[in-house]
Amino acid sequence: MSGTKQRSRRRARPTQTRLFRAPVLRTERITPGMQRVTLCGGDLGEFVNAGTDSHVVLYFYAEGAELPEPLTATTARAAFAAVRPEMRSYTIRRFDARTTELDIDFVLHAESGPAASWARDARPGDELIFVGPSPAYEPDPEASGYLLIGDESALPAIQATLPELNPAIPVTVLVEIADEAERQPMPVPVTWVHREGGELADPGRLRAALAGIELDPGLDVWLAGERTVMHELRRFLLEAGLPRDRVRPTTYWRAGT
Ligand SMILES: Cc1cc2nc3c(=O)[nH]c(=O)nc-3n(C[C@H](O)[C@H](O)[C@H](O)COP(=O)(O)OP(=O)(O)OC[C@H]3O[C@@H](n4cnc5c(N)ncnc54)[C@H](O)[C@@H]3O)c2cc1C
Repeated sequence: MSGTKQRSRRRARPTQTRLFRAPVLRTERITPGMQRVTLCGGDLGEFVNAGTDSHVVLYFYAEGAELPEPLTATTARAAFAAVRPEMRSYTIRRFDARTTELDIDFVLHAESGPAASWARDARPGDELIFVGPSPAYEPDPEASGYLLIGDESALPAIQATLPELNPAIPVTVLVEIADEAERQPMPVPVTWVHREGGELADPGRLRAALAGIELDPGLDVWLAGERTVMHELRRFLLEAGLPRDRVRPTTYWRAGT
């Protein structure tokens, strides 16, 4: 413990967590390695977005699985022993309550997994089942600056968070991506760090980029990405003198599992 007063970095959920079913409206390959899936309609008239890095848990049931009727978060969980979906967390990149359009941006990573494969093959009319939303990161309004760090899996959360930050407080953004083709338009300057074929779970590239940044103890740091990289960056930031309660990384995925 640092002795500094602890404050919650999460705002509460806007509603009770529940299960939603919604059809795909369209898909768009926004970069070679990122697929946007836009849902619209279904239960989304009742969805309330928590903002910033709020996410939902996608449920991928095996084809032909006999789902409980009615399918709710409670009945789905109660049936896990008999019919358990593959579950993966994804950020709400954008939600428009007026049109009920909801965007999720999927990294099309080279390893196959149920979520990336589903997104790659999704067609209009396909149904997505998910539970959420989660609480969301609450930026500290008294921070001396914001530091947002992540890889491409965290880019949707960073993009959803940026418009919610106080524009009077300086923000620094570091994002590791495969190469230049993965860059996306951003509302603030971003330091893009390219892997260029390097190992996925190598913390060295982001750590080198961090070394060039002034690390004021009043910074509010948000970071998410691969587990080993997050551990190492946390260690680096703590050694640089940032208080523990300011540096709480989130593991978004683990290389090899
Ligand atoms: C709160 C939260 C929010 C998230 N938001 C997003 C989001 O908006 N967009 C997004 O794309 N991801 C997001 N993720 C990460 C995503 O949940 C994981 O990448 C997930 O493992 C992908 O599931 P899958 O079924 O495609 O692959 P899995 O079956 O989980 O994994 C299969 C293989 O792929 C590898 N792998 C998994 N993810 C990646 C990756 N990103 N890059 C390279 N290799 C990988 C694994 O190491 C494994 O070897 C989020 C995670 C969390 C916890």
